[in-house]
Amino acid sequence: MGEDGERLDGPDGERAPGVARVLTVYAHPDDESFGPAAVLAGYARAGAMIHGIWATRGEGGETHLEPPPSPEELARLREDDLRVAAAAIGYAGVDLLAYPDGGLAALPAGELEAVVVAAIERHRPQVLLTFGPVGITRHADHLAVHRATTAAFDRALAAGLGVRELYYDAVPAERAAEMGIAAEPDGRPNTLIDIAATFPVKLAAMRAHARHMKDARERLAQLERDPQSITTLHRARPPVPAGIMVTGWLQERPDAAEG
Ligand SMILES: [Zn+2]
Repeated sequence: MGEDGERLDGPDGERAPGVARVLTVYAHPDDESFGPAAVLAGYARAGAMIHGIWATRGEGGETHLEPPPSPEELARLREDDLRVAAAAIGYAGVDLLAYPDGGLAALPAGELEAVVVAAIERHRPQVLLTFGPVGITRHADHLAVHRATTAAFDRALAAGLGVRELYYDAVPAERAAEMGIAAEPDGRPNTLIDIAATFPVKLAAMRAHARHMKDARERLAQLERDPQSITTLHRARPPVPAGIMVTGWLQERPDAAEG
């Protein structure tokens, strides 16, 4: 790390007063653990205040339980899993909405965006994390969350609500090529964050979801075989100039929060 480009200094170099505040917006319980769990854990341990919104309870996901529980029972189990994972990561708040899993794209125009704007007004985050334009997996719910959160960020920025940086989940180039998303922000990381110290937290969070979910169990096994030391993200706002790699958000904030 650090050899791909120079460190990017902040848009204005200022230090935000108080602790860094972060809002994550995802579609399903476990999106945070497939995504930036280890990064969030690192910032939480450095003093950041992290809140999350999950738009659905994930009742449409594929469980490995036999016999499979009813959708309502699965939603209840997944809510428990999320709360365990979020506590391990260090979330200060979990806002689990109950929109239908698989139904986010069919919500009335602007509804999810309004929910995100309201959360920004309540928590005043400087940093937002969500899905990029293809939601890594192209799941329609992920795309809906991407659109709503990006629109909400832009509205909050215009309204002077103090948002500063918007990040998308992104996978490394090789994996992006395999997944057919290499041309998208989701496949073009410009932010590389060292997560060696908190990778075990990602495993713990994934383990919570693996209790009931098939793909979480598979991903957990992969991660145990092949530990990660870097999390890749794509910073979409403000844009990152070509050739530069960001190595953390809000620059001095994590250091400042340690003292
Ligand atoms: Zn998802």
